[in-house]
Amino acid sequence: MLSAYISHPSSLLHEMGPGHPECPARCSVIHDYLLSHSILDLMVMHTAPIATRPQVARVHDALYVAELEASAPTSGYHFVDPDTAMNCHTLSAAWHAAGAAVLATEIVARGEVASAFCNVRPPGHHATRHAAMGFCFFNNVAVGIAHALAECGVSRVALVDFDVHHGNGSENIFAGDDRVLMVSTFQRGLYPFSGEEALGPNSCNVPLEARSGRDALRDAVTRHWLPALEDFRPEMIFVSAGFDAHRDDDMGRLGWVEADYTWITRQIMDVAARHANGRIVSMLEGGYALPALARSVAAHVRVLIGAD
Ligand SMILES: [Zn+2]
Repeated sequence: MLSAYISHPSSLLHEMGPGHPECPARCSVIHDYLLSHSILDLMVMHTAPIATRPQVARVHDALYVAELEASAPTSGYHFVDPDTAMNCHTLSAAWHAAGAAVLATEIVARGEVASAFCNVRPPGHHATRHAAMGFCFFNNVAVGIAHALAECGVSRVALVDFDVHHGNGSENIFAGDDRVLMVSTFQRGLYPFSGEEALGPNSCNVPLEARSGRDALRDAVTRHWLPALEDFRPEMIFVSAGFDAHRDDDMGRLGWVEADYTWITRQIMDVAARHANGRIVSMLEGGYALPALARSVAAHVRVLIGAD
């Protein structure tokens, strides 16, 4: 199956200080691994455009965007929370990461490719309608979903979020919107300490216990996600693809491995094949143990392109 790979050089310029886990090397190790394992040869390569202001305004308040732009430093850092900082390249990276989501949405919706993986940062799923937080500025996946609904003739979209952290921003943006079903797993009790109570009937949140491993993941997907997705019959599926539930990643303790990302991607592919004409847009979210991140993304992408 034809799959696109979308990236942009600005992803390598936004950085939040020495030793910060959400670092430019995340994107470069993914790129290097996919290249050196001949996976990129099988993908259609694209460079992300910038998102337009109206595209971002579908999911973020204009006042928030204006404040973010006014906060951008010309040198050094501006901290929006203790863990989330802007440098002079952050805005460019954020506009291109959101633009990657828009481009991915358009080429997948048009049928040019069945799926797209966006290797861009900053990530997005913690960014709410009104606020940057948790390493996130614009909610890239939400920008893509809103674009699909507004411009691409799609009426029902599923968002699958398997990051180790709850995608509070995405849930905030789409709470109560019956055109969007969000299914997610995350480790209970981790940042941002939300998700136990769904914000609306269109959220299917499954908190998982630390050290619950592959059996709890399979149980969550087969008993909770899949019935909800079958009922909903999404016309397109978006993935908040975070890989920080990996065993090697210090951010969480779920203990997943590459085979789990392979399995979960197959489940998403099966739903997409049944209901969505195979259409999947996958956006990079978390994942901080660099070698494990690269291997896990490769496991995910190999399934998307039909090589595994
Ligand atoms: Zn995360």
